[in-house]
Amino acid sequence: MTTTHAAASPTRLTLLPQRCTLCGTEYPAEANAICAQCLGPLEPLYPKHRVLPDREDIARRAPSLWRYREWLPFSGEPVHSHDTGFTPLIEAPRLAARLGVARAWVKNDAVSQPTLSFKDRVVTTAINAAHALGLGVVGCASTGNLANAVASHAARAGLSAWIFIPEDLEPAKIINTAVFGANLVRVRGHYDDVNRLCALLADRFGWGIVNVNLRGYYGEGSKTMAFEIAEQLGWRLPTAVVAPMAGGSLVTKLRKGFGEFQRAELVNGPSPRLYGAQASGCAPIVRLVQSGAATLTPEIPHTIARSIAIGNPADGPFAAKAMVESGGWGAHVSDEEIVAGIRLLAETTGVFAETAGGTTVAAAVNLAREGRLTADDEVVLCITGNGLKTTDVVRDVLPAAPVVDAKVREVAALVAERG
Ligand SMILES: *Cc1c(COP(=O)(O)O)cnc(C)c1O
Ligand SMILES: [Zn+2]
Repeated sequence: MTTTHAAASPTRLTLLPQRCTLCGTEYPAEANAICAQCLGPLEPLYPKHRVLPDREDIARRAPSLWRYREWLPFSGEPVHSHDTGFTPLIEAPRLAARLGVARAWVKNDAVSQPTLSFKDRVVTTAINAAHALGLGVVGCASTGNLANAVASHAARAGLSAWIFIPEDLEPAKIINTAVFGANLVRVRGHYDDVNRLCALLADRFGWGIVNVNLRGYYGEGSKTMAFEIAEQLGWRLPTAVVAPMAGGSLVTKLRKGFGEFQRAELVNGPSPRLYGAQASGCAPIVRLVQSGAATLTPEIPHTIARSIAIGNPADGPFAAKAMVESGGWGAHVSDEEIVAGIRLLAETTGVFAETAGGTTVAAAVNLAREGRLTADDEVVLCITGNGLKTTDVVRDVLPAAPVVDAKVREVAALVAERG
């Protein structure tokens, strides 16, 4: 099959064709994520002999995820969301000491532009894919953060958005979607019911559902988290990465991203061990890894970590493979541990993460206790969402602030009391 992008002008945005990751069947660029031959997932097919930038080329580019454009599924200039990505990588020595590892960093997508979660990365890619395909309507099935990101990016792009979420999401996630003027629909049921509905709606209305029929393109945005980690560490790789898992796309694409930078010789040395984190109340991917079973068993979610509560994860088996092949593992943690993880991260690094971040930190604590993270390790924790979106889970466990008269005597009493 010939690639369509070669004939286009160098500046007009065009989308790369796709190929089935299981059987290799090739498909033209279109809103389709599933192989008609074997039902395997499609992924973009990059031109074999494309010219790749070196470290200096990349370093000269603007600080957004588009500095890695050769590894994103387009040719020509991106049209939308130029400012997403290149979030801070913060060294966290006090957290490293608590974990007993050599060094630790927080990859802080809690401050991702524009909607404060890592979902901005995947939506940046998907919204440009929708543009290249001439789609006027985008949408998503979401556990919250994706809804925020699609609504915001669609508003900026002037596309209309149809967004579907489980009925019981956190108020902040609902408000952070509705404010952008999207068509927001709350569906009775769990995420997996919402996802199934969206697959039908994509067919019925011809919409670009970013994590359904645009999923092959969407997923590529996640790789940029790996690229940024490597560049921000000074063009080297950590020994281990801990990341939360919902549908399993992020962990799968972290592995792909690190591999692509190794193959491009932008970084040397061994691949990081990848550790996936889930809440015990919804941990189908971690249980798949830990049990060594041949197939994933879907679960009904019961956890405060709603953003990662996907009971039947589309990329679950691929994420499990990425963890095992990299020499990593999975950990699941209780809701109490998640809240403790949020507090530990905040108190040691000054970063306020949502429940997915608490899950990641708590999983790192458990992995260190089990001896899977060791004193030699240089660990990156992927903090994927902002704590201001899930304040309900910490509100009741934080100490109440005392109220005093504006008198030194009253404060002095407090100081004496607290030592
Ligand atoms: C969606 C999401 C993830 C992980 O998503 P995948 O589906 O596994 O790629 C992690 N953290 C947060 C905050 C999310 O919203
Ligand atoms: Zn196939």
